[in-house]
Amino acid sequence: MKIAVCVKQVPDTWAEKTLQASDSTLDRDAADGVMNELDEYAVEEALQLAEAQGGEVTVVTMGPERAAETVRKALSMGADNGIHLVDASLHGSDALATSYALAETLKGRGFDLVIFGSESTDARMSVVPAMVAERLGLPQLTFAQKVEVVGDRVTIQRVSEAGYDTVEASLPALVSVVEKVNEPRYPSFKGIMAAKKKPVETLSIADAGLDAAKLGLSAAWSSVEDFAARPPKAAGTVVTDAGDGGAKIADYLSEHKFI
Ligand SMILES: Cc1cc2nc3c(=O)[nH]c(=O)nc-3n(C[C@H](O)[C@H](O)[C@H](O)COP(=O)(O)OP(=O)(O)OC[C@H]3O[C@@H](n4cnc5c(N)ncnc54)[C@H](O)[C@@H]3O)c2cc1C
Repeated sequence: MKIAVCVKQVPDTWAEKTLQASDSTLDRDAADGVMNELDEYAVEEALQLAEAQGGEVTVVTMGPERAAETVRKALSMGADNGIHLVDASLHGSDALATSYALAETLKGRGFDLVIFGSESTDARMSVVPAMVAERLGLPQLTFAQKVEVVGDRVTIQRVSEAGYDTVEASLPALVSVVEKVNEPRYPSFKGIMAAKKKPVETLSIADAGLDAAKLGLSAAWSSVEDFAARPPKAAGTVVTDAGDGGAKIADYLSEHKFI
């Protein structure tokens, strides 16, 4: 089975994130880049399926030069090879452009299954997997907490508010996973060493046959018009209890329309 897993490099979850004054896009150099947390689950799922069924796992990313570190991390977890789409004209791409670029990169490579995380922690749009499925004409099985492949069919448990729905499709198909699906492995020392020798195909937009007019900030359907730093936290109100603390708190809550 040929499996592709799409991973995104995002600013470290715990870092203070800022937008650039020049074009209001995320300042990616201001924080360390890490693999989007949910994509670690996607990589783990791809590896478990390939280990159980036999097959090859290709990790795919679109991102700046240093996103290569994220490809290496997936390779050190056990993926076999990587594809890194990197080009200055990709800067500022929105979800539509990202899905176009990823779909064109995945197209024609004979993947049986394409696995995504269900959302990125920097933009949280949670739309790229569905958009890529639509562009590739693949069945989309999103928000999976369990994935099973038997023969040429894939079945997932799709998380819902009430529990889960069982959704099934024939391969090739696209799946996105939630964090309940597995427990991602840590790269071993052996895995880290082996990753250095694994092949990574680096593509420009010309190599991938992409139309520059559909990519980047100028082609984006959304824009940030203005932004401001979060105001510093105001000092809280201290209620001194001189036997009437309860009444004072009730007055405060009532004044602010909490009760
Ligand atoms: C507040 C805000 C402001 C924004 N401002 C702008 C703006 O000014 N201009 C603009 O053009 N866009 C803007 N965007 C859009 C945003 O930057 C892109 O839409 C975003 O990169 C793609 O959506 P996502 O990362 O949220 O993907 P999601 O749909 O949340 O990602 C789901 C999964 O898709 C895969 N995936 C996503 N991206 C990649 C990737 N690059 N490579 C490989 N796999 C990937 C991963 O598996 C991921 O888990 C803004 C978004 C927000 C929330």
